[in-house]
Amino acid sequence: MELKDLIAQYPVVADLAAERETMWVNPEYGDVAELPLTKEDLFDAEARYHRFGPYMAVAFPETAATDGILESPLYRIRAMQEHVTQREGYDLPGDLYLKADNELPISGSIKSRGGIYEVLKIAETVAIDHGMLAYADNYAKLNEPEFRELFSHYGIAVGSTGNLGLSIGIVAAQLGFNTTVHMSHDAKQWKKDKLRSKGVNVVEYDGSFTKAINTGRKLAAADPSVFFIDDEGSTDLFLGYGVAAIRLQKQLHDQGIPVDEDHPLFVYLPAGVGGSPGGTTFGLKTILGPNVHAIFAEPTHVPSVVLGMATGMNEDISVYDIGLDGLTEADGLAVGRPSRLAGHVLRTILQGIATFDDDRVLAYTAEMMDTQQMQLEPSATAGFAAVRMAQPYLASRYPMAHANHIVWATGGMLMPASEHERNYALGKAILERK
Ligand SMILES: *Cc1c(COP(=O)(O)O)cnc(C)c1O
Repeated sequence: MELKDLIAQYPVVADLAAERETMWVNPEYGDVAELPLTKEDLFDAEARYHRFGPYMAVAFPETAATDGILESPLYRIRAMQEHVTQREGYDLPGDLYLKADNELPISGSIKSRGGIYEVLKIAETVAIDHGMLAYADNYAKLNEPEFRELFSHYGIAVGSTGNLGLSIGIVAAQLGFNTTVHMSHDAKQWKKDKLRSKGVNVVEYDGSFTKAINTGRKLAAADPSVFFIDDEGSTDLFLGYGVAAIRLQKQLHDQGIPVDEDHPLFVYLPAGVGGSPGGTTFGLKTILGPNVHAIFAEPTHVPSVVLGMATGMNEDISVYDIGLDGLTEADGLAVGRPSRLAGHVLRTILQGIATFDDDRVLAYTAEMMDTQQMQLEPSATAGFAAVRMAQPYLASRYPMAHANHIVWATGGMLMPASEHERNYALGKAILERK
């Protein structure tokens, strides 16, 4: 379809094509629909994570304190709430929290949830198929040499903008799999270096994420011993992310944060292909019900999920089709085409999507350091942009006086200091200009 016809049919596309910040409200939100995944699927994934706890605790000693379970804290961020709402000039009734996936062990990002889950599921399947593992075993035995030998006959491959490759590469290589990560041009050098130091085969591409993932998928398909973890359509990745909701329910409970009609909970998540925020949203709606509402954030230069959902064309349209360049400082979100799963699952369970200019995430990155002393990568702060953009609509629709808001901070802990200093300096310059 030509751009002018798209715009005539879907007015939000005019904003997207012009790289204007915008808020798309999903007209099908709340409609009754059968979802392709269920609550049982989430609990199956959570049970698998628990079977692997003893393995993770021995293979990754930094996870021993939590019995090999990877989880992140939920922080109240009062100073940031005060500072950012004042600077950007809007009201935010209720309390603002940060879900600190930037502190998740192994990749320091939300990708530790989905990526590691899928690797563990592959390892379990291979070991069981070879008669070397029973479900009731203590999975710590997977750390023994005979399993490394077994897994060395198999490959795991993935295409990534950085963090997914990091989470999958580190765990797959530790298990003994032949591991290949296909990295797009925007992937940071330190992520490639770190993977190579773990014995992972890193293949670099001049082109976009779409090119890296397509080439990786094709190479893997030619070799039956290679498992390709497909960021554009994997159900296992999606479920690994979704498990977060089971743990968040307890964190909310433990911190005395109610979720009901008078206390709606709003969750703001950055979206690349839509897999990590999509899986998380599916989990949240399934576990916490109708009073939790998710809003995504995407760069104005790469609004892939909103373009797919607003037009109903999902993975059949990319940001390049409407003339955008797909370039952003938020490198984890530099994905021009949405996943084959996200838009379909999210059609009735996602409240909306906001787009933001890159300057904002750099400013939030500096502001989070100044107000909360927290190190985030720029992508990981995108939720703050959605908070601001969504408030007028949310206030027109929900009782906000006792609302709670969670910005999902998706990455940053492993970033080298030099990288953070660069982002911080860019952010400070933007703050001082205004
Ligand atoms: C991957 C990533 C996202 C977005 O996840 P998608 O599954 O691509 O939508 C957001 N933030 C960070 C830091 C990421 O690495």
